[in-house]
Amino acid sequence: MANWKGKSVVITGASSGIGEATAERFVKEGANVVLAARREDKLTEIQDRLQQYSGDIKIKSTDVTSQQEVEDLIQFVIDEFNQVDVLFNNAGLMPLSFMKNTKVDEWDQMVDVNIKGVLYGIAAVLPHMLERNEGHILTTSSIAGHEVMPSGAVYCGTKFAARVIMEGLSKEIAKSNVRTTTISPGVVETELLDTISDEDVKSMLKEGFFEGITSLDSADIGDAVYYAVNQPKNVDVSEIIVKPTNQG
Ligand code: NDP
Repeated sequence: MANWKGKSVVITGASSGIGEATAERFVKEGANVVLAARREDKLTEIQDRLQQYSGDIKIKSTDVTSQQEVEDLIQFVIDEFNQVDVLFNNAGLMPLSFMKNTKVDEWDQMVDVNIKGVLYGIAAVLPHMLERNEGHILTTSSIAGHEVMPSGAVYCGTKFAARVIMEGLSKEIAKSNVRTTTISPGVVETELLDTISDEDVKSMLKEGFFEGITSLDSADIGDAVYYAVNQPKNVDVSEIIVKPTNQG
């Protein structure tokens, strides 16, 4: 098992769900972790909770739709810990809606966070990692990056895009030692559904859209991330799909 002491991990979307659980996994293993998201109060709570573990933990309020803020985040990690060993591009929104209801503002938000946020993360960290010829970039796509579901045209579009961007990146930097992994979860119990405003989608969900599926815990995804980054340096885990056994 790798020794994480002195290594740094930066996680976007770390104020809840998958990002929070992944942060916990790495801090317990002794890594220095920077938590990034917009809700600073939540980040502070998590920082306090994780203080007991051996890794150092810092927070940085960041809106991933701002390229400047994402650049500032990466610079913050370098200033605090000298280098960025792992970037986990995990921030995401899922305000599912039917296209006929034309929730264009929500489409914009999803494009901005789920696609442009990922691109800004890559832009901010890639030169640093290529210069060191070391590092690992991970991005959360989804099963929705493989299959389109009703009300998910835009969300799935963003998750397909995130997966394809990571695949393109992986091909382009294949000759370097920088590794890439796409994490594609199935249904995980988090706050993700809270952003849904479309009443038709709310009805669809109430009628049992996810019935029969036992959601994963965020920690299951944290374990998958940890697995990917802990492989020997010559092993690149390009993608991990993790879904509930009964999701199908
Ligand atoms: P949560 O809603 O718990 O977490 C989403 C995170 O994204 C929050 O920390 C939120 O923080 C952050 N976020 C949202 N907008 C921004 C922004 N503009 N800038 C910075 N951070 C932002 O849901 P999950 O943990 O489930 O979601 C994490 C990722 O997993 C997402 O990319 C999601 O699409 C993906 N996913 C989730 C699945 C699931 O079933 N839960 C399945 C497949 C993929 P804050 O509001 O504080 O900014």
